[in-house]
Amino acid sequence: MKIFAAMVGGTNLPDHLYPLWGLLVCKGCGLPLCPIESAGGRRSYRSPCGCRMNLVEAATAERLTYEALDSRGLAPAEGVPESA
Ligand SMILES: [Zn+2]
Repeated sequence: MKIFAAMVGGTNLPDHLYPLWGLLVCKGCGLPLCPIESAGGRRSYRSPCGCRMNLVEAATAERLTYEALDSRGLAPAEGVPESA
């Protein structure tokens, strides 16, 4: 029940699978988005505050972040995590 664990505030999801954990924040209120494994095992980030009901797909957010860094010559050597 990883999803339940994440929803009640605790999580046992390994943070290395969520490199943007703590960096993504809610546009509405500024709270950090939480990692969550959505249906089907897809890695996602969710807002804990209710401002945004849709999950942010982790692979998409990480790819966009990587591309933005890469365009400035700042991309990490290890690249982006494998999408689940
Ligand atoms: Zn919010």
